[in-house]
Amino acid sequence: MGAITLDSVEKWFGEVQVIKGIDLDIGSGEFVVFVGPSGCGKSTLLRMIGGLEETSRGRMLIDGADMTAEPPSKRGLTMVFQSYALYPHMSVRENMGFSLKTAGAPKAEIDAKVDEAARILKLEPFLERRPKALSGGQRQRVAIGRSIVREPTAFLFDEPLSNLDAALRVEMRYEIAKLHQALNATMIYVTHDQVEAMTLADRIVVLEAGRISQVGSPRQLYEAPANLFVAQFIGSPK
Ligand code: ADP
Ligand code: MG
Repeated sequence: MGAITLDSVEKWFGEVQVIKGIDLDIGSGEFVVFVGPSGCGKSTLLRMIGGLEETSRGRMLIDGADMTAEPPSKRGLTMVFQSYALYPHMSVRENMGFSLKTAGAPKAEIDAKVDEAARILKLEPFLERRPKALSGGQRQRVAIGRSIVREPTAFLFDEPLSNLDAALRVEMRYEIAKLHQALNATMIYVTHDQVEAMTLADRIVVLEAGRISQVGSPRQLYEAPANLFVAQFIGSPK
């Protein structure tokens, strides 16, 4: 579950085309990283996959079903926001359970799912605290925990670690890799950090001005970069 197909997808903001015909098959359980210069369309494409941004042309399939016109709630995906999007007046437990509560889930079910997510993310000691009493890395884990409880088939991350200091980024990178193994969920991850891309990705998608300029494993991109931009980003000798 969680296979995603993009079929000639385009995005126009008025007269301006920012996504210019993207074809991509993402396998169930695959970890795909989008990279590319600022403004190339990474966030827009991710938001289109999540249904937060309308697709102007083309089709978006999830597990074979046409989701192009479906709202985010129908897609079975979750977007992991940066940790500053936590509710400050709620405990960690309440933050993590909030989406299930608004969906009308019974308290026992919410508690069980929050406890399981807290176990995976090592947040058990912090469940009754408010976000302000947590470190940056712990807060980011809560932001991920909010997504896990919804049992999505795919996670969409938009530069989730960009607000963290260097040491925490390394720690969280490791946490996200472990999470991917534990959940076996599809993950699509936007970053401009070369090390994050190279260490996390099964495949890297390089975007330039709304088009895919190369797709491949980190090793393929390192050994055979399609152009100078890819070579410079990957740090390969070419
Ligand atoms: P990235 O995440 O790669 O930095 P974005 O997807 O945020 O790039 O933006 C891609 C392009 O689309 C940019 O030129 C940006 O200015 C434009 N853009 C993004 N959102 C909107 C919007 N809501 N209205 C108009 N233009 C937008
Ligand atoms: Mg962006």
